[in-house]
Amino acid sequence: MPNPTVFLDRDGTIIVDVGYLGDPEQVEFLPNAAQSIKNLKDDFKFQVIVISNQSGIARGIITEQQVVSVNDKVNDLLESEGVSIDSFYFCPHHPDFSPEEKCDCRKPSPQMVLQASKDFDVDLSKSYFVGDKASDVECGLNAGLKSILLSSEYVDNEINILQKHGKSPNFVARNFLEAYNFIVSDFTEEKV
Ligand SMILES: [Mg+2]
Repeated sequence: MPNPTVFLDRDGTIIVDVGYLGDPEQVEFLPNAAQSIKNLKDDFKFQVIVISNQSGIARGIITEQQVVSVNDKVNDLLESEGVSIDSFYFCPHHPDFSPEEKCDCRKPSPQMVLQASKDFDVDLSKSYFVGDKASDVECGLNAGLKSILLSSEYVDNEINILQKHGKSPNFVARNFLEAYNFIVSDFTEEKV
């Protein structure tokens, strides 16, 4: 049976966004993110998959291996809580820095979600996307997911971008715990 899945942005959503993070030692979870991921998996049997734009690679600021090391560190820390992310997908491109390399993966494209959906037999109709940028919400909506915008200091800007594109999130959450609560209540209501 296809699996309900929560897709998460990484930087600014589950860990602190320090900008082009390449050092695993700088991984720091945002409040309630680790516990909520654990609850989503343990209590509601969601798959949890990270979908991330990592244009620092195209920009030459960080390497692909560094991104993998940071992702591994995220899972090392989660594993100490008895949980892990099922998989990490990232786009290494940026149109200004890698124009010769055709990219159809960078969010807001839904390509990474759709790829993950094939790889992990995802039930898109019972799945969610959580992120802190307009591109996250659009990626989720483009893949047919309910999409949650996490508030940040730039939330007004992100909502403006979405409005210009005629899109709006299904929910705006002040923090990860609110996003978690929205998902759980929406998911359990749908099941009834
Ligand atoms: Mg982000």
